[in-house]
Amino acid sequence: MPALDSAPPLWFDPARCLIGGDWVPPASGETLTLENPSDGSELARIAKGGAADIDAAVSAARAAMAGDWGRATAADRGRLLARLGRLVEERIEDLARLESLDVGKPLTQARADAKALARYMEFYAGAADKLHGTTIPYLEGYTVYTMREPHGVTAHIVPWNYPMQIIGRSVGAALAAGNACVLKPAEEACLTALAFADLAREAGLPAGALNVVPGTGAEAGAALSRHPGVDHVSFTGSVATGRAIQAAAAENVVPVTLELGGKSPQIVFADADVEAALPFLVGAGVQNAGQTCSASSRILVERSLYDRVAGRMAERYRALEAGPALEDRALGPVISARQKGIIEGFLAKGADLSRAAEGRVVSNAPAGGHYVAPVLFDAVPPAHPLAQEEIFGPVQALIPFDDEEEAVAIANGTPYGLVAGVWSGDGARQMRLAQRLRSGQVFLNNYGAGGGAELPFGGTGLSGHGREKGFEALYGFTTLKTVAARHG
Ligand code: NAD
Repeated sequence: MPALDSAPPLWFDPARCLIGGDWVPPASGETLTLENPSDGSELARIAKGGAADIDAAVSAARAAMAGDWGRATAADRGRLLARLGRLVEERIEDLARLESLDVGKPLTQARADAKALARYMEFYAGAADKLHGTTIPYLEGYTVYTMREPHGVTAHIVPWNYPMQIIGRSVGAALAAGNACVLKPAEEACLTALAFADLAREAGLPAGALNVVPGTGAEAGAALSRHPGVDHVSFTGSVATGRAIQAAAAENVVPVTLELGGKSPQIVFADADVEAALPFLVGAGVQNAGQTCSASSRILVERSLYDRVAGRMAERYRALEAGPALEDRALGPVISARQKGIIEGFLAKGADLSRAAEGRVVSNAPAGGHYVAPVLFDAVPPAHPLAQEEIFGPVQALIPFDDEEEAVAIANGTPYGLVAGVWSGDGARQMRLAQRLRSGQVFLNNYGAGGGAELPFGGTGLSGHGREKGFEALYGFTTLKTVAARHG
């Protein structure tokens, strides 16, 4: 394997915040260190934004709403987003490298995320001027219609696992709908958030329409979620933080969208096409080293097919390798020593279970990196912590079932409800399951459907509420006004 250059392609100063169209140092003058999870080295120093920077960013966003950005037509907003999408497209390789180094994501997966960011801009560019209200037939002598208006200032608090994808779907929709955004990226990985903000500036987005303040959750994140100048909060991350953010936003009585975790099942019936299912069964568990909200961490298999599916998955597991992100193996490292510790804690909880198979960490993996070999657990009881709790690592639980009733009960038997996959050749069963599964998304004979920008996405239960992606997101980022005019 040739030596890989691990210098991040930084064309902007990561130790600054973008506020009101200017790159400025944080008020405290302090920085945080970003770690390269592949080897534990320092990747960059980023601004440690705090309450004062958040306050300035919210003021800049309010000024943008009162100025050029607030006056921009829907078509203008679409054109700006289209230009931004083209700039992202031109920088795919730089963005992919930044994300790969920062998150520890294999380069191919990071490249797919960069392309998704460009696609979100393209989708929301085209959607901006298609968003409109309706006219409502009413009493004689009245004309009644509705208007879709932006909330105003939207806050976007995002995690480290898919920065580009989550920023694309959330900020893209909010801007298309005419809001001004304040983005607080995660302290573990935020280089592509800053890169994206710089490209937005280059695209000509008016000052203050998009502001970015990196910093910790406890300081910058908390200050943003409770700020009285914020009109809507969009959060993606853990359940515990989601609760804190919803409580903070409740003080200001503003709407909140929560995209939280999951324990998503794929259900394989005896009449399924196993060979077609296999890449999805394993891939959805180990992509991004399992650090994916929609990871499929439970594989439910009808008993008559169980040994075959377990055996075929085990073969694939034994070929899985975790190595430095730029080496582009199936898995990179996990984000941090802390995350590795959490995953190892779950593996210890599974000491009473047998393992169907394991992958491996490559022998040249740097000692300072946070590598975890993927593990497939065999015949996990549905009530076991490994079948109930979100692990956020490359760990999957195989669970046998006897009939459709039992499959539905097990699938619905966690507090989460984000994604479910069904593998079956029986069309009627597919329709029944699509109705009965408690989940924001149900995928029939696939898992994820390629993640298209068109598809609304969100959860039920502890997986959160509200929808991002697709046209649906534009409704979430607007408020409806009803106008009733009496003639004469
Ligand atoms: P996290 O909740 O710790 O952090 C997410 C973001 O919230 C970060 O920007 C962080 O700085 C900020 N934050 C932390 N505490 C805060 C506070 N008190 N107030 C305001 N902001 C605060 O989550 P994480 O560990 O970074 O991400 C992993 C979790 O995210 C997993 O549980 C995963 O399932 C979930 N996730 C969900 C989705 C989805 O779309 N449903 C996508 C990605 C990740």
